[in-house]
Amino acid sequence: QALSAKLKSNVVAKEQSKKVAIIGGGLSGLACAKYLSDAGHTPIVLEARDVLGGKVSAWQDKDGDWIETGLHIFFGAYPNMMNLFNELDIEDRLQWKTHKMIFAMQELPGEFTTFDFVPGIPAPFNFGLAILMNQKMLTLAEKIQTAPPLIPMLIEGQDFIDEQDELSVLDFMRKYGMPERINEEVFISMAKALDFIDPDKLSMTVVLTAMNRFLNETDGLQMAFLDGNQPERLCAPMVEHIEARGGEVKLNQRFREFVLSEDGTKVEGLRMRGGEVIEADEYISAMPVDIMKRLMPKEWANMPYFRQVRELEGIPVINIHMWFDRKLTSVDHLCFSRSPLLSVYADMSTCCKEYADDERSMLELVFAPCSPLAGGKTNWIAKSDEEIVEATMKELARLFPTEIGPGAPDGGAVLRKSAVVKTPRSVYAAIPGRNKYRPSQETPIENFTLAGDWTSQKFLGSMEGAILAGKLAAEVVTDRSAGRPTQGIKSVQQHVIDEANKASEE
Ligand code: FAD
Repeated sequence: QALSAKLKSNVVAKEQSKKVAIIGGGLSGLACAKYLSDAGHTPIVLEARDVLGGKVSAWQDKDGDWIETGLHIFFGAYPNMMNLFNELDIEDRLQWKTHKMIFAMQELPGEFTTFDFVPGIPAPFNFGLAILMNQKMLTLAEKIQTAPPLIPMLIEGQDFIDEQDELSVLDFMRKYGMPERINEEVFISMAKALDFIDPDKLSMTVVLTAMNRFLNETDGLQMAFLDGNQPERLCAPMVEHIEARGGEVKLNQRFREFVLSEDGTKVEGLRMRGGEVIEADEYISAMPVDIMKRLMPKEWANMPYFRQVRELEGIPVINIHMWFDRKLTSVDHLCFSRSPLLSVYADMSTCCKEYADDERSMLELVFAPCSPLAGGKTNWIAKSDEEIVEATMKELARLFPTEIGPGAPDGGAVLRKSAVVKTPRSVYAAIPGRNKYRPSQETPIENFTLAGDWTSQKFLGSMEGAILAGKLAAEVVTDRSAGRPTQGIKSVQQHVIDEANKASEE
């Protein structure tokens, strides 16, 4: 909120207004443009595809049903996102669910258990109580053994959290003598939900960051679904806001190459796919990390700031939609499947107004891990849609044994149709030791700034992280153009600097 207020309270005079070209119309690029327009600048968002939203984009199939890139959950502990909804006056588009978490029981097919947050109990006690009250997932002894290693997180905060980045979740558990069963019962689901990855691959910092953000706020873990597809329900109001203040958002604008000054230290234009060059005063990339790496000018590639980005890469994930001929469940919430191939799922015919259907379920499921990089045995991202749907149906038979499995009467529910969306490179893979390589939004190039969920900010690769990174990039540009000091460039690891020096000597 403070940052929003800062950007709004320092509106520049028209003659000082900068034209800012932003590459990428995902949440980060759009948020960046929104806050730049609030500060009196003139952003122009260039999106390669014919749809906005990037990893939250969605489109309709031939029947008019929406296909989403991902099942997306909003949390109470998303302050920048909540603030954005507020500023756009669209808070009523969030459908808040009961404050609880629902887990499938691994040993009891078809059964679920919940962690209930009692209203009126403040954080973090409401979380402690929710764990204590749940009798099904962990024994009292296991609960008691889990707490001590997590206490430094609450006391020391971010420093302790950052120090754990070199350890995987499994390493951390072993180091602090946490019972192995905590991994099977809790951390596998958490890791898959947070980063589409298994706990032996995931950095402990991710789990602690999430816990720290979620547990310090009473409603931190409360979940909401958007009431419809993201391009229309969230991106469109951002576009309206930007355009009302003189900015532009353009689709089908694929950026190809940076046009640099002779010495490479300034961007002079963006060469687009058709060959035309777009010129602006300031340039921002809000592209995903893997694309930024690919399109990085060779003049920058060995600069330590840009070289560190080599250490980051996107993780694959698959989003599946399954339309059934009947209702499979009446649960109006996200469920943790706790099954080998699936992470979370929800019946969108119940959870989301726009997709409502009283007679038939539409399950949206996140399939993870789906490659060896994420800890999986099979490279699912390379498999056919049919194979992925078949494997998902097998897991669903365990989650819904009386509706789908062999025990189902009249042969069970019929799958009417399905849609599989593969994202081979989604959020950056938060494997151990990556946090230190996430670059600041400010770069060594005087008129070029980075945005995107993977850049350095205190949230993970998430919608909240994307919004915050976009906002921080807008702050860099507004401070710089007003002659105010900026936050500065985040320091780069010494070994990256040494490697860069060595490479330039060769
Ligand atoms: P992106 O959304 O990737 O946007 C980048 C944009 O740049 C894209 O629109 C792309 O088309 C564009 N672009 C790329 N190259 C070019 C080019 N050459 N020229 C012009 N434009 C270009 N987050 C949560 O908080 N909660 C969740 O429940 C959640 N679930 C998820 C489930 C799935 C299956 C997935 C895939 C992601 C999920 N996320 C979730 C993560 C969240 O979607 C992302 O962190 C966030 O949307 C990233 O936004 P971004 O703007 O940084 O990047």
